Amino acid sequence: MIAIYPGSFDPITLGHLDIIQRGSRLFSQMVVAVVRNPNKSPLFTVQKRLEQIRLSTKHLTHVEVDAFDGLTVKYAQMRGAQVLVRGLRAISDFEVELQMAHTNKTLFNQIETVFLATSNEYSFLSSSVVKEIAKFGGSIDHLVPPHVALDIYQCYAQNNPVSNQITTEAIPPRKSLPMDSPSEKQRE
Ligand code: ADP
Repeated sequence: MIAIYPGSFDPITLGHLDIIQRGSRLFSQMVVAVVRNPNKSPLFTVQKRLEQIRLSTKHLTHVEVDAFDGLTVKYAQMRGAQVLVRGLRAISDFEVELQMAHTNKTLFNQIETVFLATSNEYSFLSSSVVKEIAKFGGSIDHLVPPHVALDIYQCYAQNNPVSNQITTEAIPPRKSLPMDSPSEKQRE
């Protein structure tokens, strides 16, 4: 049975990788498919995301990496796939994913959506969380594969050098202002 795991993967996280690894044990072939979505402004190009996923999954034998435009069900039909794999983290995922699964069923009755529950350690993890942390100079080494972490650090160092610096210098003491309360002045 061929399964498609569609998503933005901007970028791939250890949560995605966990779903890919577990899914690849269930299906004879698992296609990780990057959606080209013109409505989103991604951090990485589709080409870069494909490279990142390929490198992250090179140890997995039944996994293929591809990109597609348009409807997921059309792509699934074209690939001869019977299953769409999606990951579930929280109730908020469930609502959106259930609606999407029902919609896809109305478009292509032969397709089944299989949900894999997130592993506990990744239940909080999303590509957006990773980008948010990196943007403000935090470490993301425990959230994405090492080569992806490097790409992200480089990206924010180039795009936003100031916000990417982790400031360890002491913050200079604030000069007291006329409106400061007496108690605050006493502390200074
Ligand atoms: P999309 O924009 O299609 O939601 P994402 O790359 O954000 O693309 O997610 C792709 C799929 O991976 C979704 O089904 C999402 O719920 C799932 N997913 C993302 N992060 C995790 C995680 N930490 N654990 C389990 N599933 C996840």
